[in-house]
Amino acid sequence: MIDLSAARAETPGCLDRVFLDSAGSSLPTTRVLETVVGHLRREAEVGGYRAAAEREAELAAVPESVGRLLGCDPDLVALTDSATRAWDLFVTALPWSAGDRVLVCGTEYASNAIALLQRARLDGCVVEIVPNDDRGLVDLAALEAVLDERVRLVSLVHVPTNSGQVAPVREVVELAHRAGALVLLDACQSVGQLAVDVEELGVDALSATGRKWLRAPRGTGFLHVRREVLEALEPASADLRGASWTGSHDYELAPGARRFELWEYDVAARLGLKVAVDQLLDLGVADVEAAVRSRADDLRRGLDDLERVTVRDVGPDLSGIVSFTVDGLRAEEVRDRLADQRVTVTVSGAASTRLDMAERGLEAVVRASPHYFVSPGDVQRAVEAVAGLA
Ligand SMILES: *Cc1c(COP(=O)(O)O)cnc(C)c1O
Repeated sequence: MIDLSAARAETPGCLDRVFLDSAGSSLPTTRVLETVVGHLRREAEVGGYRAAAEREAELAAVPESVGRLLGCDPDLVALTDSATRAWDLFVTALPWSAGDRVLVCGTEYASNAIALLQRARLDGCVVEIVPNDDRGLVDLAALEAVLDERVRLVSLVHVPTNSGQVAPVREVVELAHRAGALVLLDACQSVGQLAVDVEELGVDALSATGRKWLRAPRGTGFLHVRREVLEALEPASADLRGASWTGSHDYELAPGARRFELWEYDVAARLGLKVAVDQLLDLGVADVEAAVRSRADDLRRGLDDLERVTVRDVGPDLSGIVSFTVDGLRAEEVRDRLADQRVTVTVSGAASTRLDMAERGLEAVVRASPHYFVSPGDVQRAVEAVAGLA
């Protein structure tokens, strides 16, 4: 069980407002904040190199913390500056050939789709869309029917940016692997709110961000790649951290996922990421997941009871993102009028998840994403605030 009052005391930002945007950019804990600010101060005192040297042990241990979170060895984790960067690093390291097929699912995120369409334009691969089934999840029979040996990659989003649905990852992986295709999982909206174990899921690669459910600083993210896949990958660009200049005309890639990392990075933010991940591990991911699901279920139920409000989450397994619309009000109006009542939600527009939103005829949804530090009273206040609009 999460100690709610301790969690709230460590999250000053949640005390004077109902904060429902951990899917956008969550509130860091006081310890994360102090770690980041403290390091910036130290850099100003002694210079960035010495300040980093003083924290060498912690910096070296960041992949260990992330590896513990994901259930993988630390050398299979590359630290990046965003989830999109992590995702792109994997996709651009694959040896694409003209005619290679890549499958995307209905909840694909815009940045991933754009990156794949670039591969299509530059390398001649073919991007195909797997339809949803009548539960709103990726249609496994349709997926099986289109898989063949020319499919190099299946791109899957674990939890989409615009709803709480959880994708059937293991089932997709099993089908893809049977056909010899790789699976890249966008876990941007699942890591930090759900227990995510890469061995259990069986994915070949996974990308995630720090700022959302992990409550880490902005400008942090990471990539995990399975060992058997990793050794064959050549990053699109490597520097003197990802490789060694071994002769005037020769270089060697670093072993493991380190080959994807650049030498320069935001040291303060990365120290903050480590604190955030360690705090989550101390709390217990299973307890965090239980708390998030419970708050989101309460919120969904409360909203569902309101006339003129439609909850837009579909699927048999719903997590911490609650999406809804209010009749007669644009999503932006709902967001702004809730902000006036100190309730923070965001809008997820069609441009972020074009396939899914077009299929459901939606232009935008209001997105409310309660983390474990949100109290049951907060959820009640949010429902009352929405009731007041509708
Ligand atoms: C936010 C988000 C991303 C992008 O993450 P960045 O850290 O902004 O690059 C990717 N996929 C999904 C599903 C997201 O919600």
